Amino acid sequence: MQHWSIGVFASIDAGLGVKLEVVRDLGIKTIQLHTPYKTSRTPENAALFTKQLADYGITITTVFLGFEGESYETIDITAKTVGFVPPLTRSARLAEAFEISDFAKLLGVTAIGSHIGFVPHEKNSSDYKEVVETIQRLCDHLAGNNQALHLETGQESVNSLLEFIGNVRRKNLFINFDPANLILYGIGDPIGALKVVGSYVRGVHCKDALATTGKPGVDWGREVPFGTGQVNAELFLRTLHEIGYDGALTIEREIPEEPQRQKEEIGQAVRLISELKAKILNI
Ligand code: MG
Repeated sequence: MQHWSIGVFASIDAGLGVKLEVVRDLGIKTIQLHTPYKTSRTPENAALFTKQLADYGITITTVFLGFEGESYETIDITAKTVGFVPPLTRSARLAEAFEISDFAKLLGVTAIGSHIGFVPHEKNSSDYKEVVETIQRLCDHLAGNNQALHLETGQESVNSLLEFIGNVRRKNLFINFDPANLILYGIGDPIGALKVVGSYVRGVHCKDALATTGKPGVDWGREVPFGTGQVNAELFLRTLHEIGYDGALTIEREIPEEPQRQKEEIGQAVRLISELKAKILNI
């Protein structure tokens, strides 16, 4: 794959990403794919989908886990519903994640992305230990499929995330760095955080945001088009260059209810990233 190949978050059916036709129209060559619905995850569909992607010249870099019942309506609801932290859905979601990993293998995909959820703060609690064990089992299943797990940033400080990764002790556990999430969740400066997690970064989202004017960590910040928020797009890319990241730059713009605007803003992000790539990489 090209150095800093431009990508976009896409959906076949489930999820908030753009449709494949939009990816093709924008001339984008890589995608991170939101997990399709269970009924779509068949070997026949994997074959059909692989052919469609080949026709469009698109490569999937990551399949991102998504589960029924997850809601990002408020930060509090996110904590109660997202990922592997809510105890009631934990084992069922782990079983489903194994199935999604197997489906991703049929698509030839070697990375699975995931929000784990808000990791419990009390390291000695049974809850924390159970989340660690869950992610260990997930990593082990993925290793059997030659896949890595990329944890999405945002819901905790990067220091907590690094500590969690250290406790899981698996060689195929890395980070998908989303600078906007750190602003949206009120965690703090994304550039400083990126330097801290440096070598663990195996995927990134080019997403931007403005911090809340209410209570950080309680009220959401606001997602805005890449390059127009508080991330500082140029500094973000320069820092990625500094830490030696050469993977895909995946644009995330989650406004599927406004498809025309979504397409336009992703197109603007493509132009901005192309300019910055030329400037920073001298190409
Ligand atoms: Mg993201």
